[in-house]
Amino acid sequence: NSLELRRHSSPDDITAAEFIQIRYTDVPGRFLAKYVFSGNRNLREYFKSGVGLDGSSVRGFATIDESDLLLVPDRSTLRKVPLPEFNVATVIADVYRGFGKGRLPRDPRHVSQCVEERLAYDGLACQVGPEVECFIFDDIVFGGGQEAKIVSVEDEGHSKYPLRRKGGYDAPPFQDSLLEFRFEVAEMLEKYYSIKVTNLNHEVASSGQIEINFMHDTLTKAADNVQVYKDVVRSVAKKHDKVANFMPKPIFDENDRRAGDNGSGMHVSVSLWTKSPAAGQDSRNIFYDSADEYAEFSQAGRYFVGGLLSHSASLAALAAPTVNSYYRMVPGFEAPVYAAWSRGNRSAIIRVPVNERGSSGSKRIEFRAPDPSANPYLAFSAIVSAGLDGIKKKMDPGDPINENIYRMSDSQRSSLGIKPLPGSLKDSLDALKSDSGYLKSCFSDELLETYLALKEKEVAEAGDGSKEQQFRMYYDV
Ligand code: GLN
Ligand code: MG
Ligand code: MG
Ligand code: MG
Repeated sequence: NSLELRRHSSPDDITAAEFIQIRYTDVPGRFLAKYVFSGNRNLREYFKSGVGLDGSSVRGFATIDESDLLLVPDRSTLRKVPLPEFNVATVIADVYRGFGKGRLPRDPRHVSQCVEERLAYDGLACQVGPEVECFIFDDIVFGGGQEAKIVSVEDEGHSKYPLRRKGGYDAPPFQDSLLEFRFEVAEMLEKYYSIKVTNLNHEVASSGQIEINFMHDTLTKAADNVQVYKDVVRSVAKKHDKVANFMPKPIFDENDRRAGDNGSGMHVSVSLWTKSPAAGQDSRNIFYDSADEYAEFSQAGRYFVGGLLSHSASLAALAAPTVNSYYRMVPGFEAPVYAAWSRGNRSAIIRVPVNERGSSGSKRIEFRAPDPSANPYLAFSAIVSAGLDGIKKKMDPGDPINENIYRMSDSQRSSLGIKPLPGSLKDSLDALKSDSGYLKSCFSDELLETYLALKEKEVAEAGDGSKEQQFRMYYDV
């Protein structure tokens, strides 16, 4: 029996995998998985021929009349799945149209690869570093006519050592119920997926919020890493009978948006380089300028920030793309509300963080609007495109804002030219409709139209935005 043979001859030999898991991402950002049995075919054959896909069943991919698509695995992403009893390979695929007509323009990975090619054409490369926050709940109860409810052992009534609201940041071990959980996730990322973990902290919110960071990487790889990371967090949570939640704002009060606890962001750090940093000494971080006294931040960096600020409303439609995203972006929870930039100001949408150990290589901007409900391929591509547009058109970002913007009066803000971010998904979608020129070279019209249609449907479905409905729509983003 060939299955038995494969299992016993070389359980760790990935080229002899019994099963192949093929991953791809739909337009809203769900990381889907197709499985094939490789027993009767060589793994190599799949890399060449691809595997058929019914595009009409994937959100945003294809219409019924042109639904035959192909998944062609990207060999560089081949890994072993941590399932000890089986030899399973996992791989991320690029999506092609069936019948030999090239790449599918709606494949999110195609968009990010296109942005990288454009950068390379200009002699540039980017590094993207996402910081994905999320909650690990003991349970989420919703549906069946019940009021939506979150259960966390870290809360009052469940723990002898409960955390105080907004008191979870770097929680000491006796109050931190998720210490081993984070270690387990980190080990799995390192061992099976070669994702290099940096820090792994308890986050600010009190009901089991965590943040595990990994090294920055090139645009598409950084997006791949986000997808794999979310998957690993979810599988470890499931193993322990817990539930991982990546909603931007799961803990909120329907009647008082300023109540609740911190939400989950996905801050995105970006640096621009001449060539790839992997290419060694030739590459130079073009955001770094030792002569700048404010933040050792170059003029190119300032123009990049100018691009992000000027496109911030339409960017929100891709970086903070759910109805629930706008429950997060309210004052008082370290989430951005106003389009401004600064050095260390966490009420601004963009920070230029201090250089670690004086290293020019770490000069980057941190864009704080994105959240984990975003499709990382589309969000990162849009962010880089907006920044490049700023460089191309020499967009002035204005002066940095160093005061707490939450506390300014409306007239103070308007005299400084600080605009609020869109207050709802509907507003950001409207902004995207009137400001998408900077995206056009890699976001095709058909992709943008499909995206807008899917998201407008979400706005309609959300109705009055009740907690029940928010969980129903977004518990698995
Ligand atoms: N949770 C915050 C947000 O929504 C960020 C908090 C932090 O990283 N210090 O963006
Ligand atoms: Mg962080
Ligand atoms: Mg954080
Ligand atoms: Mg951050």
